[in-house]
Amino acid sequence: MSSEHQDSVSRRNVLGIGSTVATAVLAGVVANAQQPQNTRAAERDRSASNPGPENGALLKENPNSNTPPPTDHGDVGPVWYSFDLTHKRIQEGGWTHQVTQRELPSSQDIAGVNMRLTAGSFRELHWHTADEWSIMLDGNARVTVLNPDGTIFIDDVAKGDLWYFPAGYPHSIQGLGPDGCEFLLVFNEGMFSEDNTFLLSDWLAHTPGTVLSKNFGLDQAALAKLPTSSLYIFPADLPKSLAEDRAAVGGQTVQSPYTFRMEAMAPTKRTSGGEARIVDSHNFPASKNIAAAVFTVKPGGLRELHWHPNASEWQYYMAGKGRMAIVAAGGSARTMDFNANDVGFVPSMAAHYVENTGDTDLVFLAMFKAHEYLDISLNNWIRHLPPEMVTSHTGLDASSIRSIPAENSIIIAGR
Ligand code: MN
Ligand code: MN
Repeated sequence: MSSEHQDSVSRRNVLGIGSTVATAVLAGVVANAQQPQNTRAAERDRSASNPGPENGALLKENPNSNTPPPTDHGDVGPVWYSFDLTHKRIQEGGWTHQVTQRELPSSQDIAGVNMRLTAGSFRELHWHTADEWSIMLDGNARVTVLNPDGTIFIDDVAKGDLWYFPAGYPHSIQGLGPDGCEFLLVFNEGMFSEDNTFLLSDWLAHTPGTVLSKNFGLDQAALAKLPTSSLYIFPADLPKSLAEDRAAVGGQTVQSPYTFRMEAMAPTKRTSGGEARIVDSHNFPASKNIAAAVFTVKPGGLRELHWHPNASEWQYYMAGKGRMAIVAAGGSARTMDFNANDVGFVPSMAAHYVENTGDTDLVFLAMFKAHEYLDISLNNWIRHLPPEMVTSHTGLDASSIRSIPAENSIIIAGR
């Protein structure tokens, strides 16, 4: 099935209309008796036609933005950006690019950074004002973090592993063999910037040699090779084994580890539509201020209608194709399509769903500036009210209400 055909099928499903008008729907013409008269008039004329220039590739990626479903309304604000639109800072040893509040102004609580390190290369020793959460997307890395009590944590991470470094704690990341690594970093400050962190190299370069000599108890001659400018990302030899590196720092261990094997954990919830893994301070105690969920939604499946009572949601799409619609206070509503490497945003408390519109698994990450993951399920709410109250609000009859899932399924299979 072609992706265009898939799109048409999905749009048909969301609009609840028949296959005979699928072509018309793709063209942005909606035949729905419940639509206002002016929309119906637009079907019969050329209101939606666009004879001027178009960026066809971008339109194909976001059909629901170009031709919004009739349920969209008003202005929700920006809900989409893509790492593939950003400036990539490339240095010998790797690269980085970021989607922060600068790129996605709605996202005041979370910023994301995507980084690649080749084998042996470092993201140099540094610290910053935000907490740092990360997921390994590919490859292997060694991380270190120093605690204020002087103990150091050293570990190796692989695809699917997480880490969490508290704000102000100095840390490092080094790509390992055979091909280094790529990872996504998430910070709990919308205006965080990878270009504005505290670097060891900057500290050394901007401190007088006489002071460094006194501080380290070294002759100035010994300081001859100190960096004179920022290193940031730079190549180096591969490190020794993890055991040797741990032994080299005195074998200290840290009670609360800063890494987490997410792929090894059992799903928090598994249904016939997919699965969810939720990681927050309850199961990853180091992650005090950032909560995460990774959802895998099978083709046709739905991350069900819900909202989050404690935070806005910052998303990173890892695989597949999806469509999210957000309904905000005041009745504004926006539908947007998402592809791998895109970022999505849901305003705090806003209602939303995410539907798999492709023919492969949709995998996406949902991040929250919060110590725990919380959500409110519409189905769960409806099924825990007196049925007469639900009928009064929705017109659903008692037997229909009883057939709605009573639990928070998180992910619902396609039908
Ligand atoms: Mn960092
Ligand atoms: Mn959500």
